[in-house]
Amino acid sequence: MAENKIPYKIYLEEDEMPKAWYNVRADMKNKPAPLLNPGTLQPMTAEELGGVFCEELVAQELDNDNAYIEIPQEIRDFYKMYRPSPLVRAYCLEEKLQTPAKIYYKFEGNNTSGSHKLNSAIAQAYYAKNQGLKGVTTETGAGQWGTALSMACSYLGLDCKVYMVKVSYEQKPFRREVMRVYGASVTPSPSMETEIGKKINAEHPGTTGSLGCAISEAVEVAVKNPGYRYVLGSVLNQVLLHQSIIGLETKAALDKYNIKPDMIIGCAGGGSNLGGLIAPFMGEKLRGEADYEIVAVEPASCPSFTRGVFAYDFCDTGMVCPLAKMYTLGSDFIPSANHAGGLRYHGMSPVLSQLYHDGYMKAVSVEQTKVFEAAEEFARVEGILPAPESSHAIRAAIDEALRCKETGEEKTIVFGLTGTGYFDMVAYEKFHDGKMSDYIPTDEELAKYAAKLPKVE
Ligand SMILES: *Cc1c(COP(=O)(O)O)cnc(C)c1O
Repeated sequence: MAENKIPYKIYLEEDEMPKAWYNVRADMKNKPAPLLNPGTLQPMTAEELGGVFCEELVAQELDNDNAYIEIPQEIRDFYKMYRPSPLVRAYCLEEKLQTPAKIYYKFEGNNTSGSHKLNSAIAQAYYAKNQGLKGVTTETGAGQWGTALSMACSYLGLDCKVYMVKVSYEQKPFRREVMRVYGASVTPSPSMETEIGKKINAEHPGTTGSLGCAISEAVEVAVKNPGYRYVLGSVLNQVLLHQSIIGLETKAALDKYNIKPDMIIGCAGGGSNLGGLIAPFMGEKLRGEADYEIVAVEPASCPSFTRGVFAYDFCDTGMVCPLAKMYTLGSDFIPSANHAGGLRYHGMSPVLSQLYHDGYMKAVSVEQTKVFEAAEEFARVEGILPAPESSHAIRAAIDEALRCKETGEEKTIVFGLTGTGYFDMVAYEKFHDGKMSDYIPTDEELAKYAAKLPKVE
């Protein structure tokens, strides 16, 4: 059987790496809705966006037409330090599960930042540098994005100011120190350095912050400091574009062995890794050339796709950012404090939101103890210590493989293993000590936040 010839790890050669990113918007009939100016409720123009983001990234954000966008040589050279990333056949997991399903995972944790976020960080830092900027500002929750951006900025000699959600700043001192190794300044958010930070601190004394707050602070600092722009690690169209490298490599590796996946699974926080992983497959699906089952996996405690509303909403708590049309739980929504599994953002990529709305993909939500059970099962047979975020995808892949065991289906499943969990040991500790609970917001709670969505249409 040709099957036996498939190695544990399918690597691409350096010269087989993609030379252009793929922009799935070009193949969408219903384009993602435009970002709106929160004041005028009119679509954001390139000029308006240029006050916050770098010029080239604004062009990418607004580009719904060009299917391929060349990856500049400098970025390709940087990618070569840690890419192509392996596509692994999970033979050991299959054996353990005794499933007829064939499971593959694309592993993005092989770099110091420990996740796929470096793929977009280097692109965003590169365009900032090219524009002659001094530096960039950003927010970080758990710290992976901040770490990735710090690495990219230090490589290119750019200043990097990171606003880190206060609870993570305090609970994840090691992530903070990695960022400082790469020369970034890291400020706990909400801080007393910005107008919005002071306001939030005054209104919510003792608050431990949220991603939405940290975004507001980082945007304010970028807008007020000449030579600075703001960068974001997920949600935006441009970020999904950069992350298409994941899917393009995956497809090239599968094509080498004539493997056609039946199901593609990814965890979804803001949607960037999933959007990147599925991009070329979704392109085929949109063009009617092939069909795939595409599944987003989100935490039951932050269920934007499965229980959110498809509507315009603020991307941040301070309401300074443009409005995006997306599946959202409301910009005030903050997942329960005992939620340790990441993927805490209230909204979702507008591209994925549109595709989900149009029926091109589905979504499931999973409870966090089940996620950590899957993480350990995976770690014990495949060796890699997965990030809690990534483990949402593992959970769904294992569940599907177990279903195949019942039915005897020899399904080919590909999932995105977005990163490693070395900095998430407090969460693993809670799990081991039986202190992890599964909080699922009630319909009443969600309705309360949804009622506060801005009235746009
Ligand atoms: C940030 C992150 C995610 C979630 O972000 P997306 O934009 O939804 O991809 C998932 N896994 C890891 C390891 C991350 O760092």
